[in-house]
Amino acid sequence: MDGMQVDTIGDLHGSSSSVRETGLSFRSPDAGIQHTLRNPISCRGIGLHGGLPVTLAFRPAPVESGIVFRRTDLGTEVAAQFDRVIDTRLCTVLAPEGRPDARVATVEHVMAALIAAGIDNVIVEVDGPEMPVLDGSSEPFLFLLDCAGRVAQDMPRSVIEVLKTVRVEENGAFAELRPNRAPGLSLALSIAFDAAAIGRQAYTMRLSEQGFRSELANCRTFTLRSEIEAMRAAGLARGGSLDNAVVVDGARVMNPAGLRRPNEFVRHKMLDAVGDLALAGHRLQGAFIGHRSGHGLNNRLLRALMADRGAWRIVGWNGRARAA
Ligand SMILES: [Zn+2]
Repeated sequence: MDGMQVDTIGDLHGSSSSVRETGLSFRSPDAGIQHTLRNPISCRGIGLHGGLPVTLAFRPAPVESGIVFRRTDLGTEVAAQFDRVIDTRLCTVLAPEGRPDARVATVEHVMAALIAAGIDNVIVEVDGPEMPVLDGSSEPFLFLLDCAGRVAQDMPRSVIEVLKTVRVEENGAFAELRPNRAPGLSLALSIAFDAAAIGRQAYTMRLSEQGFRSELANCRTFTLRSEIEAMRAAGLARGGSLDNAVVVDGARVMNPAGLRRPNEFVRHKMLDAVGDLALAGHRLQGAFIGHRSGHGLNNRLLRALMADRGAWRIVGWNGRARAA
């Protein structure tokens, strides 16, 4: 257990007798109490598609405020919610209703880091249309969040429990959410690429903070060399380089240092799924199964789940149903 969690226990004991009486262990951020950051923190980086420098800041936020992205250059805000997603072609893009110009792109790696680090309430400020890509993974965001520190808030978390299977499909790809007895979110994902360096890969895990940190967080986004020219011609991937993406050319990985994991590709796709599913607005209790699913299917899956009022319910950390 790290030092931050010791601080967290101290805060809980100082502030909440009702919480203390539950007897729940607070050593894990999965334990069911809302958290925010102890301190604000910021960094500077470039956007993957625009290639422009942006400043990112994480700021503490009150209980029940959720994750909110704020465009400091425009004065707009958008909640990190599945129904605020306006584009999923290359990354997941949020925008306030009726304000596509106030978009915030490439939120998935940040969302994955926030949910894995147990941060429920935070303002994510950015002074441009896209998150900085940093190294193409979630690890630098986790580092920032760790430096900021985490503090427990005096309110239990709500959880969305999947009650029946919901599935979306497209061209042989699919994504599914199923009920699951195990607490939290379990994930199983497979991918299939013609490029021999990727090929077929599959990965399964039950999401936990430690599991995310050790198995997924440093796995980078990737692209095919053949697609780079097309993206550049469309004005995209201007900030992309071997410093922030794995580039594959057939059987070859073009990055001089190679891969961080033999199956870094499927692990990154799972990282993306964790980030995309975090847009449900609360943690999920269920099992995610995906085959060749990307941002588009992940978002369609959440929309299909939430549109079916019999497919989910809101429960407290103790599994008791709550009024939705
Ligand atoms: Zn990604």
